[in-house]
Formats: sequence, C-alpha cells, structure tokens
Amino acid sequence: MTLPNILLSSCIVLFVVGCQSVELNQSLPFDQVEEELWVYFESFEQEALARGISINLNDLDLSGEVESITQDGVAGSCQYGSHITNHITIDQEFWNNASDNHREYVVYHELGHCVLLRDHDESTDTDGNCLSVMASGTGDCVARYGPANRDQMLDELFLSDD
Ligand SMILES: [Zn+2]
Repeated sequence: MTLPNILLSSCIVLFVVGCQSVELNQSLPFDQVEEELWVYFESFEQEALARGISINLNDLDLSGEVESITQDGVAGSCQYGSHITNHITIDQEFWNNASDNHREYVVYHELGHCVLLRDHDESTDTDGNCLSVMASGTGDCVARYGPANRDQMLDELFLSDD
C-alpha cells in the first residue's frame, strides 16, 4: 500500500466513526418508550427547557408505543392516574400517514395530558383556528400547526395556566 492510500483509509475510518457518534447523539433512549417516539420526546424536553421548564421524561413513570387504536378517529391517547404507569399510545395508521408536524402535534398533545396535566382547550382566534395544541379535535375549532404558528402554540402549551 502506498502512503497516499494509507492516508485515505485512515480518513475514511475517521469519517465513519465521526458519523456514528453524531447519530448516537441525535436521540436519547427513553425507558419503556418505543424508539419511533424518541425524537419527539426529546424535542418536547428541549422546547420546555427553551421556555424555562426543566422536564426529564426519563424520570417520570411513563411508557409509550405506536399501536393500532380501534376507536375511529382517535390518533392518540394518554392513560394516567396515581396508581398506574402513565401510558401514551399513538395510532399506527395515523402514524404511517402523518407528516412530521402532525406527528409532533399529536405526541405533544398526549404529553400535554400525561406530563403537563393539561385538559382540553378549545379556544379559537377570530378565524376559528384552534389556539391550543390541547384542542380535542372534536370541538369546533380548526387545528392548524406548522412553522407559521408552532412557537406561539408551544408557548401556550408550556406556559398557559389552564
Ligand atoms: Zn386529548
């Protein structure tokens, strides 16, 4: 092997190792939570922290899964109570067809119930758009959630007194 070849091989090795460490840092493992949900759980912690609220979901007795929900029109659920492990279920069919934004919206809604102990909130603006991630989806307001209003909706989610 000539010298340039040796140099090239070591560069490739470094590059591969570098990539792996970056990927490992992208999502933290959450105990009892299905891996597909990790990225949203982690960003939930980050968005809370950006608003001065420290939440470590790993410290909570909380499990989560993506699994078929038989009840029509239900994208997610959160079971909680003082004597059970809080459990979030996101509907498999919804998950398969949803955009990143829509997935985040539903996961954050359920974490709103299970972690922030929020009830439903059907507040609307003058155009009839839901003002809260905690809108039930069965009320009159229209749920829009995306880059244009995400910050505002998350301020409401984490900072509202309701
Ligand atoms: Zn709900």
